Amino acid sequence: MLPYGRQSIDSADVEAVVAALGSDWLTTGPRVAQFEADLEKVTGAPTVTVTNGTTALHAAYAAAGVRGGDEVVTTPMTFVATASGAAMLGAKVIFADVEEDTANLDPAAVEAAVTGRTKVIAAVDYAGVPADYDALRKISDSAGAFLLGDAAHSIGSLYKGRPVGTLADLTTFSFFPTKNFTTAEGGAVASTRPELVDRLRDFRTVGSIRDPKRLRRTDEGGWYYEVQEFGLNYRLPDVLCALGSAQLSRLAGFKARRAELTARYDELLADVPGLRLPAQREDVDPMRHLYPVRVLDGRRREVFERLRAAGIGVQVNYIPVYWHPVFEDLGYQRGMCPNAEAFYAEEISLPLFADLTDSDQDRVVEALRGILGS
Ligand SMILES: *Cc1c(COP(=O)(O)O)cnc(C)c1O
Repeated sequence: MLPYGRQSIDSADVEAVVAALGSDWLTTGPRVAQFEADLEKVTGAPTVTVTNGTTALHAAYAAAGVRGGDEVVTTPMTFVATASGAAMLGAKVIFADVEEDTANLDPAAVEAAVTGRTKVIAAVDYAGVPADYDALRKISDSAGAFLLGDAAHSIGSLYKGRPVGTLADLTTFSFFPTKNFTTAEGGAVASTRPELVDRLRDFRTVGSIRDPKRLRRTDEGGWYYEVQEFGLNYRLPDVLCALGSAQLSRLAGFKARRAELTARYDELLADVPGLRLPAQREDVDPMRHLYPVRVLDGRRREVFERLRAAGIGVQVNYIPVYWHPVFEDLGYQRGMCPNAEAFYAEEISLPLFADLTDSDQDRVVEALRGILGS
């Protein structure tokens, strides 16, 4: 089965991991600091590594101080973790609808959803296309809320020339194998605000603090540390950070190949009937994570099943988050966000990854042509 996304591992990646395994540090050593410094060059802001994209969201909401009684406004067109990370801290999740074409959070819908209890506005850069952060920033500033970007799809993307990582107060990343680059499991949170960076580091290290300037008591001795707030062990090991630094050095190449494949799909699929191709935006330079097409005329399920039967591993991104029974049981009802539901009803993600060959891509195009008839 041709997958919809997969990692690209070369011999330098393997050597980096082997070197880490033979070193003194399997975790919490120099390769963590190195990977975080390498990430900062891409994200444009101090970046704290964690164990995956889900824990990155949990840590980011915790750093923002989210708790019971707070509201978090977010998009339903995402992986469930964007919402569940806030719900697990006791927040009420408010779903705002997406733009009809990009499937990114619609600032007008956010504006209508914000209340005096809004603690965080959380956008997702769907398919790698950054959300409209300038518009969202105006709303978060006037609401006194934090702006969070779930950039699991978009590390390496630019918005009006600025890197994803500098656009929100907190920006989360995932390094799962299907994402733009990988550490197997892995994630990170970037923040432009130093006090949030401290809170992120504390949270991912079980809340423990060693910096003498931040200790409540300073007369104990060299072994002493304090836990001032609860946290979890979300540390990303050196072995995986070694893979991350090696992968990150290839990011520009990954971006170029994803752009090339996207342009090829745009051209080869332009005249296929019953298909709507992904939206473009003038002011963004995206890392193309997904190639989401829309299958018209109620044929999405048929096309999905026939592509799978032809050995083409397509995916649907995403089931509207509030459709999941965990939200349904809390009283969320279908029909709440019509644009997201219409998008979901038609969407299929075609294979897109750096090592996808032109001939495999041609096979996807031919299969689609065969089904949709042109
Ligand atoms: C993948 C993904 C996550 C979760 O990342 P994991 O590393 O799989 O935990 C969160 N949000 C979005 C939008 C994602 O695509």
